[in-house]
Amino acid sequence: MKALVKAKSEPGLWMQDVPVPEYGPNDLLIRITHTAICGTDLHIYHWDDWAQKTVPVPMVTGHEYCGVIEAVGDLVADFKPGDRVSGEGHITCRHCRNCRAGRRHLCRNTQGVGVDRPGCFGEFFSLPATNGFKIPDDIPSEIATILDPFGNATHTALSQDMVGEDALITGAGPIGVMAAAICRHVGARHVVVTDINEYRLDLAKRLGATYTLNPQEKSLQEAMQDLGMHEGFDVGLEMSGSPVAFQSMLETMNHGGSVALLGIFPKPIVTDWSQVIFKGLKLKGIYGREMYETWYKMTTMLQSGLDITGIITHRFQVDDYELGFQAMEEGRSGKVILEW
Ligand code: NAD
Ligand code: ZN
Repeated sequence: MKALVKAKSEPGLWMQDVPVPEYGPNDLLIRITHTAICGTDLHIYHWDDWAQKTVPVPMVTGHEYCGVIEAVGDLVADFKPGDRVSGEGHITCRHCRNCRAGRRHLCRNTQGVGVDRPGCFGEFFSLPATNGFKIPDDIPSEIATILDPFGNATHTALSQDMVGEDALITGAGPIGVMAAAICRHVGARHVVVTDINEYRLDLAKRLGATYTLNPQEKSLQEAMQDLGMHEGFDVGLEMSGSPVAFQSMLETMNHGGSVALLGIFPKPIVTDWSQVIFKGLKLKGIYGREMYETWYKMTTMLQSGLDITGIITHRFQVDDYELGFQAMEEGRSGKVILEW
């Protein structure tokens, strides 16, 4: 089969002919129809320090996908060939304390699809059946393809009470923009989104932000004045990985507010922790998605009127994958879909 492979320890990805993956008695073999490119795939493409330390070569990349089940292992009862599926890309150990308690998103031995084990950028992909998620008929395959990052946005946004609250989202990457849409859908009042990229601020506005700003041009304090907010934000979602953005969030949170941290800082950061202490802020780190509460919440939000279609800005045939990576690179993009 053809697959996009990190074949060499140098920048790039290569379309290669590789064997169809084997699947065990508890696994699904999925025929991939659509994939999407994640920031992680860009790191692997560029072969930065993180990728060099983390990804063994050769490796079929990719973890955002939709496909149709081609075959199931002998012990698989709840999926059948022909089912349309996506799946959870974190493979958990089943043995640690959190796994045994059903808190699989907190597994300490998580393996990542397309990072630690072969990914979905291929014509076929094999996955433990417990990680599969059947796609309801009324959810289009393109949307099913981005459930992984939409799940990051959902897990983060729904980690605290949002109804009637004022939310600040720093970073309007695809995840920040989808988080803005969720905040509006579940009943936040002001949804303020910051980014230094105007194209992405525009996307955020179209999907649900009630106010957007570029912090290089305007301060959050000025935004609060415009909105008649006197006290501060109730909820903060850090989705940029920028230490400066995080600091500005801490400064504009109301006392007792909740901050969820999804963005990954490039290195250890120094910040004004007294903001956290004297304001009594609650901080929560977010990794991945809850298995599988986030998946059910995503599905039901999509079925009850949440429309995230606008986050998909580019579509390419997979043979043109270089164009897809280029679109991600330039930042004038939301999600980029590759059709197989
Ligand atoms: P992205 O890189 O596309 O988006 C980040 C955005 O932040 C960009 O649009 C960038 O212009 C913006 N930004 C940079 N500096 C800023 C500043 N000072 N103020 C405001 N915005 C600023 O990433 P994404 O795919 O949307 O993911 C968001 C973040 O979450 C990334 O840091 C990513 O690494 C991280 N992530 C974490 C998890 C997890 O499980 N914790 C999962 C996926 C992604
Ligand atoms: Zn575990």
